[in-house]
Amino acid sequence: MGPNVDLVVSSSGFPRETEVVVIGGGIVGAATALSLVERGIPTVLLEKGLVGAEQSSRNWGWCRRTGRDVRELPLINLSMQLWDGMNARLGSDTGFRITGIAYAARSEEQWQRQQRWLEEARQYGIHSDALTSAQLRQKLPDIDFPVQGALYTALDGRAEPQKAAPAMVAAAVAKGLNLQQHCAVRTIEQTAGKVGEVATERGAIRCRAVVVAGGAWSRLLLQGCGVTLPQLKVLSTAFRTAPTDYDPGCCISFGLVSLRKRLDGGLTVASSSNGIADITPDSLRFGARFMPAYRAERQGIRLRLGQRFSEELFHWRPGRADKISIYERIRVLDPAIDARIVRKVAANLARVIPALAGVSIEQSWGGLIDSMPDAIPVISPVAPVSGLYLATGFSGHGFGIGPGAGQLMADLVTGSPPSVDPHPFRLARFTDGERIAAQHWL
Ligand SMILES: Cc1cc2nc3c(=O)[nH]c(=O)nc-3n(C[C@H](O)[C@H](O)[C@H](O)COP(=O)(O)OP(=O)(O)OC[C@H]3O[C@@H](n4cnc5c(N)ncnc54)[C@H](O)[C@@H]3O)c2cc1C
Repeated sequence: MGPNVDLVVSSSGFPRETEVVVIGGGIVGAATALSLVERGIPTVLLEKGLVGAEQSSRNWGWCRRTGRDVRELPLINLSMQLWDGMNARLGSDTGFRITGIAYAARSEEQWQRQQRWLEEARQYGIHSDALTSAQLRQKLPDIDFPVQGALYTALDGRAEPQKAAPAMVAAAVAKGLNLQQHCAVRTIEQTAGKVGEVATERGAIRCRAVVVAGGAWSRLLLQGCGVTLPQLKVLSTAFRTAPTDYDPGCCISFGLVSLRKRLDGGLTVASSSNGIADITPDSLRFGARFMPAYRAERQGIRLRLGQRFSEELFHWRPGRADKISIYERIRVLDPAIDARIVRKVAANLARVIPALAGVSIEQSWGGLIDSMPDAIPVISPVAPVSGLYLATGFSGHGFGIGPGAGQLMADLVTGSPPSVDPHPFRLARFTDGERIAAQHWL
């Protein structure tokens, strides 16, 4: 089981008509719905399980500029501004705190990459520091682990994944959002190339626009509309410890182990180098497009052939309006984890921070990351279908960038001037000849 999310009460009446339907109650759907209702747009948010129960409650909770893909920097700058005012905007606590984030470089090559990122980031007004290993040791005196140096961004922070999306949705409901949970969208219906309604397990809702913010399910939802989205899933594992006095002050990553302090006094611990990419029929379809990103990340991602191949081959099919769909059969995507990864990361934790040897592990979980070949999201209209919009593919860093992504999506849906340039995030980049490549800075 994944972490318990804060519960949000669904709206009482089932709507038959609205302006905008948002599919998916993760951080991106939540931020989109919030931004739309704040503009006075009648909006319905449909979630097949519970708000926040998939990736958005399973992540590390880092809200980071540090080492981010340069194409995402304007969007993360906007997001950090939004995070900063979020608790006041919602009237509740998302757990957001500015704590700083430190990413250590273990090799000279990684250290050089991080310095190059610093130069790029300065052009976006981002003030990170390159700490020498001596400066890092001064900052984190409990850690005596050999590194070349570290990127440190004092204005980065963290929030509580189990609280953030629910808090946004609860505030949006108070402002007029109609929220339906345990309400899967089976199909998005179009007439003459235009979105007309969504078919849900509880009936149809007529609407003028649909935003797909379905995380790892977006590929399938789009397939149902006849649109190909080159998206694959990567399994990532994390765990939390019992409350401990240890508090490094900032979120820290040493590659083989990363951690942040939680509001409950424990630590969320993981490693960026333990991803598992299960081979599926989609891996065969899109594998070539992902190969450059996979090669660059190959030490961090293991390919695996197992049950998921046949499961997706036989069961992951686009829905039909009149039949129970895969979205209802899997209310919450809760992938099994490999216990060896948890043991390995716990051992690395003790190696890097000896004071944490033997700390009690309270819970571990997995999440399926919705990944794109260039590791940046799609936030875009879906050109062949008028009224259809897509916000997905956050490739493992959508929690921090979620608030800005939601605002940008609401700009696109309402035809307002976009808060940041949406060009890098257009869906058409996969077909218009752009060179598709991921950036690796950390
Ligand atoms: C272990 C892990 C660590 C991570 N760490 C970080 C981090 O520290 N910082 C960071 O910025 N990002 C991190 N991420 C990535 C981040 O969690 C995601 O990018 C982000 O949560 C994506 O949000 P989302 O709303 O797009 O998707 P999700 O949270 O996956 O939400 C999609 C929702 O859509 C719903 N849905 C799908 N299909 C349907 C349907 N047919 N009908 C109704 N509802 C539907 C699903 O039930 C789900 O709730 C991490 C991810 C993982 C797994």
